[in-house]
Amino acid sequence: MKIVRTIGGLRAEPRDGSVGLVPTMGAFHEGHLALFRAARAENDLVVASLFVNPAQFGANEDLARYPRDEERDARVAEQAGVDILFTPEPSELYPPGFQTWVEVEELGSRLEGEHRPGHFRGVATICLKLFNIVRPDRAYFGQKDAQQVAVVKRMVRDLDHEVQIRVVPTVRDADGLALSSRNAYLSPAERELALTLPRALATKDAAQARARLNGLDMDYVEVADFEPRVLAAAVRVGKTRLIDNVVLDKEKA
Ligand code: AMP
Repeated sequence: MKIVRTIGGLRAEPRDGSVGLVPTMGAFHEGHLALFRAARAENDLVVASLFVNPAQFGANEDLARYPRDEERDARVAEQAGVDILFTPEPSELYPPGFQTWVEVEELGSRLEGEHRPGHFRGVATICLKLFNIVRPDRAYFGQKDAQQVAVVKRMVRDLDHEVQIRVVPTVRDADGLALSSRNAYLSPAERELALTLPRALATKDAAQARARLNGLDMDYVEVADFEPRVLAAAVRVGKTRLIDNVVLDKEKA
């Protein structure tokens, strides 16, 4: 596996056949591995990006303490069959004078967007930049971030990009908690409390889920009309904000 840190370096890589891109922020777990494997199965060249995108973090969020371990991530990605790990510095992607943003207006402003203003502007912009830099045939995203999938698909359609968006089902721990890099923040007691989230969503009913989550700090628990429809929730456990969702239209899952 090759580690590439610049846009020029990435563009200079030889490309033969189809290219799959997996955008990530690192701290790899089995969720990321499922995306790498899906990309490996369908493409000649697999590029993973590892970039903790400052533009998608709010001022009071966890950008500074977001888990970072490039050495371990590089080992894990290589073992999963990634060919190129693209891991640029923020200044490579946001040079001085940067001022062009992608705003997915309606889809990006509710649910997560309402509670994390500017989040999806950061997500859409970095995804479009990565699509333009890597020029993948297919890009891989997790259903865990259902609204992110909806926003990225809408952007691709609205801006006439040719990349195909592939969605991989949410990978969970044996106890049901959806894998997330942010689970590393949880103490054992908080992790126990966090299990309420998948259990509440398993009811597949917003009112029942809210009742089960009673006592936790809920940002939202709502049915979202994405494709497929989901029951989505964001809760805070201690200082950690967790999101999860379950697919409601089983036949389309
Ligand atoms: P992140 O590094 O957290 O930005 O995630 C990178 C990609 O992995 C995103 O497309 C996420 O939706 C996906 N992902 C994160 N956690 C999971 C999970 N538990 N199952 C499936 N995909 C996931």
